[in-house]
Amino acid sequence: MAFDFITEQLAERHRQGLYRCSTSMSGAQGRLLHVADKTYLNFSSNDYLGMAADPKLIKAWQKGAELYGIGSGGSYLVTGFNQTHQALCDQLKLWLGVESVALFSSGYSANQAIIKLLLKKPDLLFQDKLNHASLMEAALLSDCTMRRFKHNNVDHLESLLSISNKSSTLDGNKLIISEGVFSMDGDTAPVNTLHATAKKYDAWLMIDDAHGLGVVGENGKGSVEACGIANKNLQIYMATFGKALGVGGAFVAGSKELINYINNFSKPYIYSTGLPPAMAYTITQAAKMAETQDWRRDKLQVLITTFRKTATNLGISLTDSQTAIQPIIIGDSVKTLQIADKLKTLGFWTTAIRPPTVAVGTARLRITLTVNHEENDVVQLVNAIYRVLNDK
Ligand SMILES: *Cc1c(COP(=O)(O)O)cnc(C)c1O
Repeated sequence: MAFDFITEQLAERHRQGLYRCSTSMSGAQGRLLHVADKTYLNFSSNDYLGMAADPKLIKAWQKGAELYGIGSGGSYLVTGFNQTHQALCDQLKLWLGVESVALFSSGYSANQAIIKLLLKKPDLLFQDKLNHASLMEAALLSDCTMRRFKHNNVDHLESLLSISNKSSTLDGNKLIISEGVFSMDGDTAPVNTLHATAKKYDAWLMIDDAHGLGVVGENGKGSVEACGIANKNLQIYMATFGKALGVGGAFVAGSKELINYINNFSKPYIYSTGLPPAMAYTITQAAKMAETQDWRRDKLQVLITTFRKTATNLGISLTDSQTAIQPIIIGDSVKTLQIADKLKTLGFWTTAIRPPTVAVGTARLRITLTVNHEENDVVQLVNAIYRVLNDK
């Protein structure tokens, strides 16, 4: 039968406890999640700064729609780039101190665009083992050679780079990619040593800062600045608007020349409809808020400290993540799912993250803290986790 793998693989996913489906939620993102007729405390969203339903941003979206309309009407090189898109690019340049910016509809598409655009045979791509699926999959679409280095292990990266330096068949351009804050682990990349190593081997460095922008660094400038390196000294900085900025879409920042090259040669950039102007207008306001409202980062820090302290006091083992992403590694997929389900019955929504999103044997509860929480919410969550883990 044609395409019978569809039925077989779905059945296999069911058997392994790895089947996935979306849950339909009502209302806006926030402290609470409403599913069917139940309400849960939401510890699952990437809305770290609590912006996804901010009243000011909802107003901005409405005003943006009135001023500029809802659809861009075309791709960026046709009618799809108007002054709201320009204002967004300008705001990002000012805030992040980068030279130039290209907008994309999603981080997924931005990552695919960059890898497909810049690398071919005999080029080499070095990726942290825990990089996001969009980066890993993009490598499969390119004819470059990919090498994965052990998570956050610059010595391993360096050994791979030195082998490639000696090989005459692998003498193309080299690109190193790491996430800034790792999406499923919450730990941060050693961007300064990655940067020095890239320089030593004449490689470029790209940081995917989907979970760092707005959250870490002075004025929320992200993981690169947090490591003491100016964003403009990095060859490629990529981040999304759908996480801490609470909206959606993404951008790539780099030299004017790199961005001109994207504008002229990147198919996902050229052949895709521009972000809705009302959305670009909203993201610009969100970026301004993320830059200036330090209280959001300060509050998040308090919640992170409360979470870690309370959990440690109860003997719950944590990873060393210091960010808003606080995983609790369980190991077994089915068990992780059961724990998440029990937490739901107690009124807490966390996500059971299972393979293939994370490595086999490292299924986890992915807990995310956001500015929408109060300290007491976090204490209640940790108490519930303690009860579930200890069957009390
Ligand atoms: C979410 C995410 C992306 C994809 O961004 P979207 O805008 O959601 O498509 C890319 N990289 C990382 C690390 C992410 O977490």
